Amino acid sequence: MRLLEYQGRILLKEAGIPVPGGAVAGTPEEAYEIASKQLDGRAVVKAQVPVGGRGKAGGIKIVDSPDEARKVSKSLLGSELKGEEISRLLLVEPVDIEQEFYISVLLDRGTKGPIVIFSIEGGVDIEEVAAKTPDKIHKVRPDPIMGLQPYQIRELLYQAEFEGEIFKEFYGLVEKLFQAYQEYGATLVEINPVALTKEGELIALDSKVKIDDDSRAMEEVERILPEGEERRDKTELERKAAEVGLQYVELDGTIGVIGNGAGLVMATLDVLDQKGGQPANFLDVGGGADADLMAKAYEIVTEKKGLEGLFINIFGGITRCDEIAKGIVKALAEKEADFPLVVRLTGTNEKQGRKILEENGISAAESLDEGAEAVIEKSSIR
Ligand code: GDP
Ligand code: MN
Repeated sequence: MRLLEYQGRILLKEAGIPVPGGAVAGTPEEAYEIASKQLDGRAVVKAQVPVGGRGKAGGIKIVDSPDEARKVSKSLLGSELKGEEISRLLLVEPVDIEQEFYISVLLDRGTKGPIVIFSIEGGVDIEEVAAKTPDKIHKVRPDPIMGLQPYQIRELLYQAEFEGEIFKEFYGLVEKLFQAYQEYGATLVEINPVALTKEGELIALDSKVKIDDDSRAMEEVERILPEGEERRDKTELERKAAEVGLQYVELDGTIGVIGNGAGLVMATLDVLDQKGGQPANFLDVGGGADADLMAKAYEIVTEKKGLEGLFINIFGGITRCDEIAKGIVKALAEKEADFPLVVRLTGTNEKQGRKILEENGISAAESLDEGAEAVIEKSSIR
């Protein structure tokens, strides 16, 4: 479950990490009230949507008066930010920032343990920092049983050359963040940025928290979070897929993936990754999908912005390849692909399926390897 900023903030606060004062508004009037009564006028108005990069996209505004808070809230509420409807705003007390840092603890599936990441380049996209100045990112891997050790925290913070009080404060913050990660059964707790204020204090200006739904700590998380909350843990497309009973998950890459069966879909993602491709999302059409369901799957996956390729990988068992092929043709008739499309069909009725595709000018790959390579190559030379 991915929490919205204001929900993650509640957990951080509970863990003893300082956050700016503020409250959540669902209407311009509420925003006015919060700005005038709780924040003496000035406020940072922040769109609560389950996506990052809100600042750059225009979802974070600093206002100077309650009237302006109302006006800005009116224009933000109900509008869309990166494809997500804004239904809530967080209003917080503005902070005078001296410097911004990045800190996170996440579950590294490679080493099957936590990893703590710190950077003196906070407030910006961490992937960008990793690509441009990798030496500005430091990582330590605590032992899952022994936990985060003092020497690891020192090693992590070394690059920042903190001295005196601020070192101690940061040290404490890292400890608390790690504790929060463990106690809340999180797979990610990220603060970007942690701000050092002009007054020399550390404060968490953003939060990104993901909780493992199967964790025993879910009870604790549910207890801390306000009751009856709308849980915006799914993106618009994930919700749309869930409505028609399809399993769809959004990722960060560029190649869309459709497959049938969880195992096959996971294998498809792995093979794409091994060959240097980055999946943008994946959708599992399940067993026995007919042409209509396949067409619906295509519609959802291709609605994702910035797709550079689509890989459809079907292993026909109870699913019939001719039905899948019909579905693809139907979907393409409604919405043309403006990116390379690679289909791999094998199993029940594969000959009929391939024939339908070929008649419609779509070529089919024989194997998973071949298909994955083809989609990566075609998408890279666009
Ligand atoms: P994101 O863009 O979705 O990651 O949203 P953030 O909550 O991280 O806000 C983006 C940026 O807005 C931060 O990196 C800060 O530079 C800025 N910002 C957020 N809160 C404050 C604040 O209280 N004061 C000032 N001056 N800037 C802020
Ligand atoms: Mn941020």
